[in-house]
Amino acid sequence: MSPPSEATAVHLPKSALTTLSHRCAGIGAAGVEALREAGYRAGSDVLAALGESAGDVRYEEFLSRLDTALRRAGLGSVAYEPVSPSIGAVFWRGSVEAGGSRTDGASCHFAAGLLAGVLSRTAGRTVDVVEARCGGGGARPCWFLFGSVETLRSIRPRLSEVREAVDRGPQEAVGR
Ligand SMILES: [Zn+2]
Repeated sequence: MSPPSEATAVHLPKSALTTLSHRCAGIGAAGVEALREAGYRAGSDVLAALGESAGDVRYEEFLSRLDTALRRAGLGSVAYEPVSPSIGAVFWRGSVEAGGSRTDGASCHFAAGLLAGVLSRTAGRTVDVVEARCGGGGARPCWFLFGSVETLRSIRPRLSEVREAVDRGPQEAVGR
């Protein structure tokens, strides 16, 4: 764990991040990867600003602190939901990238990278994140799942099935 950094923050209009995200995602896999990488780096800086050490806090408590940091940065708000011993979920309301997205699938790639960066650093190992359902900028939150690389590898092929089950409850969607 590196000491808290003095990373410089820039404040962009939300529309700039929304446009950047949509344009990058439109490029395809390389654009999505760039967004996730940028998000991952931002997550590391957010974590450093929170001054947390790996393994010091529970996800629930940690996500509550992250929620405060994201609200302050104008990036929305997050809440933690346990799903199973190996999978957790994060509900993200007001994701800047979700506005105007045309699909229920993953569209908040910067946010997914940010969560992966924050959670990996907190856990002290690689934590993978996938957006199971995007809220599309409406009233519904975006719904992210996180777990080990191996666990999410087994979830990814049946994401559409998971998406359909989300409204019946996270446990039912992925808990088998
Ligand atoms: Zn989303």
